[in-house]
Amino acid sequence: MTKNDLQIDCLLCQQEGGIVIWTDTTYRVIDAQDATYPGLTRVIFNHHVAEMTDLPHDERQHMMSIVCTVEAVVRQQLKPHKVNLASLGNYVQHLHWHVIPRWSDDATFPDAIWTAVKREGDGVIARQAAIEGLLPLYHAELKQRLMKDFGGSAV
Ligand SMILES: [Zn+2]
Repeated sequence: MTKNDLQIDCLLCQQEGGIVIWTDTTYRVIDAQDATYPGLTRVIFNHHVAEMTDLPHDERQHMMSIVCTVEAVVRQQLKPHKVNLASLGNYVQHLHWHVIPRWSDDATFPDAIWTAVKREGDGVIARQAAIEGLLPLYHAELKQRLMKDFGGSAV
């Protein structure tokens, strides 16, 4: 696959989609910079395909290995109550996985983060601040683990 696989009208073909933590020729892992859900990380296929089954079989396995490494580092460093993995792409039909650390006191738990807010206020703000404080170490460990497991380069 080449740069010709990029589409002019696709957000993830035209932009990184967040702060790049790690990349190789085929994937990038980004911090989504989501203020409501700090730690939300995305694994993005660098070429424009919409579905997992657009990938050759071994590439599907490779992508899920990257997703699992991100999940493992999320668990180790952020210690969430739960991790949500999601590949939706209804708005941006460019293959990407969300790795979402969740806490029982976050804004929408136990529903998906894209649903109506259930709670807000000091508790939610305190949780967000605590997670923000862990992000530098989380990102450093994530860079190290992804480079160890998959090569590529940290940004
Ligand atoms: Zn695209």
